[in-house]
Amino acid sequence: MVKAKRFVVVKHFQNDPKPSDLQLVEEELPVLQNGEFLVQAEYLSVDPYMRVYTQRYPIGVTMIGSQVAKIIESKNTEFPVGKRIIGHLGWRTHTIVNPYSSEYDFLGIKPALVPDIKDLSPSLHLGVLGMTGSSAYFGLLDICKPKQGEVLVVSGAGGAVGSHVGQIAKILGLAVIGITDSDEKCKWLVEELGFDYAVDYKTEDVEVCLKKAAPKGIDCYFDNVGGEISTIVIYQMKNYGRIAACGSISAYSADPSSLPKSTILQPQFVFNRLKMESFLVTDWHDRWHESVQKNLQWIHEGKLLYRETITKGFENMFDAFVGMLQGKNIGKALVQA
Ligand code: NDP
Repeated sequence: MVKAKRFVVVKHFQNDPKPSDLQLVEEELPVLQNGEFLVQAEYLSVDPYMRVYTQRYPIGVTMIGSQVAKIIESKNTEFPVGKRIIGHLGWRTHTIVNPYSSEYDFLGIKPALVPDIKDLSPSLHLGVLGMTGSSAYFGLLDICKPKQGEVLVVSGAGGAVGSHVGQIAKILGLAVIGITDSDEKCKWLVEELGFDYAVDYKTEDVEVCLKKAAPKGIDCYFDNVGGEISTIVIYQMKNYGRIAACGSISAYSADPSSLPKSTILQPQFVFNRLKMESFLVTDWHDRWHESVQKNLQWIHEGKLLYRETITKGFENMFDAFVGMLQGKNIGKALVQA
């Protein structure tokens, strides 16, 4: 009998998540049936969407999230022991998976074997070669449609998606400005990742900095944060500017009554003919392979660097999650079980 641990949602998050919203439980898993396999979590992802999506599920569910896990027992020849899968299995140490059921489907995606990435860490399937990497790739290329010589601004630039977007834009020959929340992250973006300019929105005036860094205006905005930062960026965009609305983390944990009343953006959109389009990365599920291959190629060529903030120990999932929401991560936030 395998002893498994999982976090159960006992209260929906309100504003900032609290440790008492989740409960760690231990249970024995049943014996495997034909067609099933048992996995052990190796790396678990902590992502901003968990803060909002959890509210869609009833109290009592396992806290949602994806993980890379190793098959440790199997009654399914397509999923042999020793192989790894990626799946939206939730915050669990061990899971029995029936690949033909829809139990662990998330936005239409089933648990699946991960591609072989040789010596690279399997954790990358959750970051630069996973959901965040594909968001950066498709969101930038398909929605911002960047052209060489243009100016791109990316917010949430110190995180997984943002740091990746800026590097692809540099590969494509754009001038890149990142907005992030600390001097350390600004230095990383400019000195190591090759961004042209980085703004610390906690200590600097974003509007003044953008006017200095992009005096002729901004062509593309990859928006990870929403709110006031985005309003400032949008008001400095050029004619025919394109905005990829990837996320709005500044609002995820905010008390709705504390949010600013709506700013009128329409004149800016109309007179500058701006275009804003949102996406869910799963929209490109049938092209997933393309983003993984391209990101992998750029890693091998030394053009795409990545950083991971790894918290050790499954019991520390909550701290890692909240730390990521507070911007304590640089690059992809993960837990090593
Ligand atoms: P990150 O690694 O970027 O971690 C979250 C980051 O958000 C923090 O590190 C911090 O970065 C920033 N942040 C936190 N609070 C605020 C705030 N109040 N104002 C501004 N910035 C804040 O997470 P991801 O890269 O995984 O996700 C980035 C965004 O992309 C999120 O909005 C997420 O929801 C979205 N997303 C959307 C997907 C889609 O399919 N549409 C798929 C994946 C992600 P910093 O230090 O730079 O400020």
